[in-house]
Amino acid sequence: MSGRIDITGRRFGRLVVTGHDHRDREEKKSYWQCLCDCGKKSIVRGCSLKNGDTTSCGCLRAENLRKGRLAGMQASSTRTTAQGYVGTPSYKIWRGMLCRCFTPSSGNYNRYGGRGITVCERWLDFSNFLSDMGPRPPRTSIDRINVNGNYEPGNCRWVTAKEQTANRRPLLEEHVQRSLANLARGRKIRRRKIGLEP
Ligand SMILES: [Zn+2]
Repeated sequence: MSGRIDITGRRFGRLVVTGHDHRDREEKKSYWQCLCDCGKKSIVRGCSLKNGDTTSCGCLRAENLRKGRLAGMQASSTRTTAQGYVGTPSYKIWRGMLCRCFTPSSGNYNRYGGRGITVCERWLDFSNFLSDMGPRPPRTSIDRINVNGNYEPGNCRWVTAKEQTANRRPLLEEHVQRSLANLARGRKIRRRKIGLEP
């Protein structure tokens, strides 16, 4: 464990680290024992915890899949209430949102459902989504105010592409900072030199 940070006791999503398990010499990665909120134990690679790839024992993904099936059923049952809206911009946005969160085969799933981002129960029904958000104004798409939050009333708004980029910018900067910090660690460059510390 020399030189490695002990993450025992820390929480990552539903997982709390209970102790170090082993270090894979070939991979040069540490594995940690975790206890999930659902009561199951699992052994997870430290980097998967830290970068947010793994946030549960697998129960979250299973839950999302269940919700996804429910959403699919709701979608077909609300097709009657959505009649006249199918194919409209608002309807397409709504379907896209469900896909990103609930369909693992969707290209964006890893950045949404795979990270635990979900759609609130109320919005599984298209008519509720439409009455909360209103019809989509031209040239806008749906934006989550807190980018780590869910699709739900209070966290969503219609924005233009330009406004959306502005909201993503802090996230990008954080990402760049992390890369720089890794670089500094690897090359023994002083953090101050690359502007990470004053
Ligand atoms: Zn679990």
